[in-house]
Amino acid sequence: MTNRATLGRDLLRAAHLTPGLTRADAARALGTGTGTTTEIVVRLLGEHLLAEGPPSATGRRGRPTRPLVAHPEGPLVLAAAISHEDWRLRVVELGGAVVAETGGPHGAGGPDAVLAAVRAAARGALRRFPRRVRGAGLAVPGLVREAHLLDAPLLGWHDVDLRAAWPRSPDLPADLVLAGNDARCAAVAEAVRGRAAGSRLHLHLHLDAGLGGALTTDGQLLDGARGSAGEFGHLPFGDPARRCGCGASGCWGTALDGAALARLLGEQDPPDPVSHGHRVLDRAGAGDPAAGRAVAVVARALGRGTAGLVNALDADLVTLGGLAGRVLDVAPGEVRAALEAGSMAVRRSSPAVLAAAALGADGPLVGAGELVWSRWWDRPAGPRGAG
Ligand SMILES: [Zn+2]
Repeated sequence: MTNRATLGRDLLRAAHLTPGLTRADAARALGTGTGTTTEIVVRLLGEHLLAEGPPSATGRRGRPTRPLVAHPEGPLVLAAAISHEDWRLRVVELGGAVVAETGGPHGAGGPDAVLAAVRAAARGALRRFPRRVRGAGLAVPGLVREAHLLDAPLLGWHDVDLRAAWPRSPDLPADLVLAGNDARCAAVAEAVRGRAAGSRLHLHLHLDAGLGGALTTDGQLLDGARGSAGEFGHLPFGDPARRCGCGASGCWGTALDGAALARLLGEQDPPDPVSHGHRVLDRAGAGDPAAGRAVAVVARALGRGTAGLVNALDADLVTLGGLAGRVLDVAPGEVRAALEAGSMAVRRSSPAVLAAAALGADGPLVGAGELVWSRWWDRPAGPRGAG
């Protein structure tokens, strides 16, 4: 790869991370002179990889500056997320803006029907944006093995080949069709577009039907030996008498999820634990005392377990996504008190920042797209031009 190609890649990445970057910002980010920067910008404009927005603010010397933005015919990424209850597909341009979105409920058809629905939506996107899509990413709840096989015990899906979510197309080369665990995708999203910029060790916890998460160090996801580090919901912080769908007993996730809230309220195991969890949190937020007491129990279990992880990992930031972010919003006092009570004195003196994830329920979807952008400019051949 020539130096110019590397600089082009770095400039695209900078424009993606900071939409509206000026040429002067780009020169600073790349550490290049204005002549070299102009040469690279002109090439990327010519290849329709970037465009210049209308002149807005004036530069330091009174000259109008034109921000670098996504080209109207520029590259796009398909990002999809399957949750326990529905699926969503987005078309995302450079810089992260969403240019199209669709989705729907699972229905009764199992994994084949859900993947077929995503595939049909993706085919529609490829038709609507011909020769502009560069790759596709999918976030799923469960363990992703060998980059495409899903094992999701809580969903009842085993050995599902996730490549079936995408139509065969020259716009979707095999090395740019990616899949990842939803909580890990949400952690990536938080590192790229959320609160985790600048964090040395960031712990993300994502509560959906189960609890998952990931660690990022200086923005990079920690993979583990087989790419599935971060199954924090299966730490034995729960009731040892309770079996978890993963095959273990006493898992932390079973003390936090929608089924736990239903149990605490004396209700039946809900068929839609995620929606049920949101409904209980809505009621607690509106002042319902029984829902409030149930959420408080879950909030304390969340804070206590988080303290254990921060003690062990020396994290400087903890972000809570999905239902966990809402638990923090509804019962912040309970979460924070349990976190402090469970923290080693040395951690209490410089405590980790605890915050709801900036991207909320969008985290897995945003992260699925970011996996593809990141792979695209790290390709050995570098990002390819239009066509
Ligand atoms: Zn488990």
